[in-house]
Amino acid sequence: MDSESTFYAHDRREARWVSNEESPTPYAKGEGVSLMVADFVSDAYGFLKSPDGQESARKIFRAGKNRDGYFTNDDILRQAEDAMQILDKYYPHEDHVFVYDNATTHQKRSDDALSARKMPRNVPQPGTNWGLKRPVLGPDGKPVKHKVRMAHGKFNDQPQDFYFPHGHPRAGVFKGMANILEERGFGSMAGVLAQCKGFKCMPDKPRCCCRRMLYEQPDFANVPSLLEQMCKKRGYDVLFLPKFHPELNPIEMCWGRAKYWYRRNPSSSKDEDLERNMLSALDSVTQAEIRRYSRRCRRFLDAYHVGLSGKQAAWASKKY
Ligand SMILES: [Zn+2]
Repeated sequence: MDSESTFYAHDRREARWVSNEESPTPYAKGEGVSLMVADFVSDAYGFLKSPDGQESARKIFRAGKNRDGYFTNDDILRQAEDAMQILDKYYPHEDHVFVYDNATTHQKRSDDALSARKMPRNVPQPGTNWGLKRPVLGPDGKPVKHKVRMAHGKFNDQPQDFYFPHGHPRAGVFKGMANILEERGFGSMAGVLAQCKGFKCMPDKPRCCCRRMLYEQPDFANVPSLLEQMCKKRGYDVLFLPKFHPELNPIEMCWGRAKYWYRRNPSSSKDEDLERNMLSALDSVTQAEIRRYSRRCRRFLDAYHVGLSGKQAAWASKKY
């Protein structure tokens, strides 16, 4: 084991699995289809698979017209599920962390996730209610907008229901931002705006508007993605790379290296050749190369150390 590639958290060794999906084959114009691969790589183990190589979390899909389309959040979740199953089975003595790009597909939240973006300030008019509008399939198979209740908030470690309780004259109706904040101990919201004009709040003015105040509440500010929720339940951590920095993701360099090997094959547009050549190109990426890519990313991280915040800093502050 490369000592540089591992580190310890809580006395257990931690393995980081960097993931992404991309096409490791050069995209041929007019071909209309390209093979995409989604996989995990770690500098300690290479591509994620069982020791005998028979089980892996690798997903191959055909992007382009009338094909599988692109990887969705559901695909990402299913793939993480497969990865955890392999790691549980063969590598149970380490802590595992999944590292993902900051893409929308990876960050998707549950339909009822907390968001102050569209909340009304006050209790809705009698006979009406407020909820999150989400598309659901109607009886004719077409999507219709359906109002979903927002999940409970969390304040002082207690759940806070945003809808009036049983027995209340407006039971089940949304409380409005002002009431929610008052319940949180912010005092009277009388005279506090729903939102500053254009939501351009003055940074030095506290309590400028209800929406800003809720935005800054920890439960609103740190809504976990579905991926984080699912992995955390099974004892796996998830980190996201800073946005727009593919050079921090070693798997990108693996795809690049695979492309190099792929180009050395005689070209063929036959689907089965495409797939076989791609797999052999991926197999040609060596463990030593993967370690080198990881070290390169770490050097980038050191250089970027300043100016990253939140979850980004969490990623950058630990040695890769
Ligand atoms: Zn404001």
